[in-house]
Amino acid sequence: MIVLIVPAWLWRSGSKVGLYTCGPTTYDFAHIGNLRTFVFEDVLQKVLEVNGFTVKRVMNITDIDDKIIKGAREKGLGISEFSAPFEKAFFQDLEKLNIKSANVYPKATEHIGHMIKYIEELIKKGLAYVEKDGSLYFDISKFPDYGRLTGVDKRQLKSGTRVLSDEYSKDNVSDFALWKAVEANEVGYDSPWGRGRPGWHIECSVMSQEYLGQTFDIHAGGVDLLFPHHENEIAQSEGKTTHKFVNFFVEGEHLLVDGQKMAKSTGNFYKLNDLQEKGFDPLSFRYLCLIAHYRDKLNFTWESLSAAQNALHNLRETIRGWDSPNIGCAGFEQDFKEAINNDLGMPQAIAILWELVKSDYPTSAKAKTILEMDKILGLKLDEYLGKQIEISENVMKLVNERENSRKSGDFRKSDKLRREIKKLGFEIDDTPSGPKIKVVVN
Ligand code: AMP
Ligand code: ZN
Repeated sequence: MIVLIVPAWLWRSGSKVGLYTCGPTTYDFAHIGNLRTFVFEDVLQKVLEVNGFTVKRVMNITDIDDKIIKGAREKGLGISEFSAPFEKAFFQDLEKLNIKSANVYPKATEHIGHMIKYIEELIKKGLAYVEKDGSLYFDISKFPDYGRLTGVDKRQLKSGTRVLSDEYSKDNVSDFALWKAVEANEVGYDSPWGRGRPGWHIECSVMSQEYLGQTFDIHAGGVDLLFPHHENEIAQSEGKTTHKFVNFFVEGEHLLVDGQKMAKSTGNFYKLNDLQEKGFDPLSFRYLCLIAHYRDKLNFTWESLSAAQNALHNLRETIRGWDSPNIGCAGFEQDFKEAINNDLGMPQAIAILWELVKSDYPTSAKAKTILEMDKILGLKLDEYLGKQIEISENVMKLVNERENSRKSGDFRKSDKLRREIKKLGFEIDDTPSGPKIKVVVN
């Protein structure tokens, strides 16, 4: 099914778009599955912006949950001290992947007071109840629309059965914790119900509405968040305000390894640093994400990453020789825009980019258009377009030596030197004005 992202529904909401994207839980480094979702959300934001919308983006940082508390306890650290390096690395990863910063990165621990007030409202409306131990739950039987987003089978609803843990399974269609009572020596905050800490879902309702209002345009995340996280957010938010919470939920599919979801809990994950240690440019990973549609699963392999890196390398080296941007190729720009506006059709958009590269248009026109395309692609092509490569003294020496051998007719030696130069990553074109040095393109 084709979903047109930009036309119709967004025009209705005016020129501003509120976008909330569920952010990282900082108990470990982000893995490249998480990063795939963050790249998809970045593309979504940039597509909206290219269409003339001003996007206000909010991305929460979950800096308190069961896993963070456990990790901090094991290391003998406070939770913020424990989370800090993971949070720092998260922002570094975003920068490496050329992901535009959100306007606000609210942290759960800085919104505890707001969450308590929100829960009090839910109690007043009869949607939440307190258990004997001081934990509070959302009563899903009191919210008739529960299951609307995911179509979860209502016969499975086990109201009165409760889930306290931040971990969940798809079969847990139950009341969920809004506030968890804790012992005096555990991490917690004072509340009207005694010492405790918030459940996971409440933070996203509270912080999204705090910064984007009670109804906003788009809520995004990975597909694993559909149920129960986003379903529970709807129940809390619409239960409290009686107004629509979000106009559109957009969830991206998973990154897989060996056919299985990449996840920290199963240990089958790679971090961006692991890719870099193997010599990959983070933007090669971004390119890899772009060539799969966000609603398709993407099976990660080192071969596919290598192919993405080669493609990106070829692109960069090809555009080095292009003239300064001028005029542009309107037809290609139009096709590109149609592709991205058709449910973020990035694989088609990338195919159009390559058609442009291979076309016979003057390079100045292609240059202007490719920079337009890169506003979405985010591959930093401006750093390569028309920019000459830096050649080390050693390579220059070999090139000169080869030129001398060639001129003196010693073609055996000049061929040998050509091979040596190639091993260093450069190719030589013999032109009437002398040797022209290019980076090897695979
Ligand atoms: P977390 O840090 O686990 O809260 O997840 C942050 C974001 O990454 C959420 O939007 C998740 O839905 C998403 N996510 C988690 N695992 C994957 C995966 N394997 N592929 C794509 N997105 C994922
Ligand atoms: Zn969330």
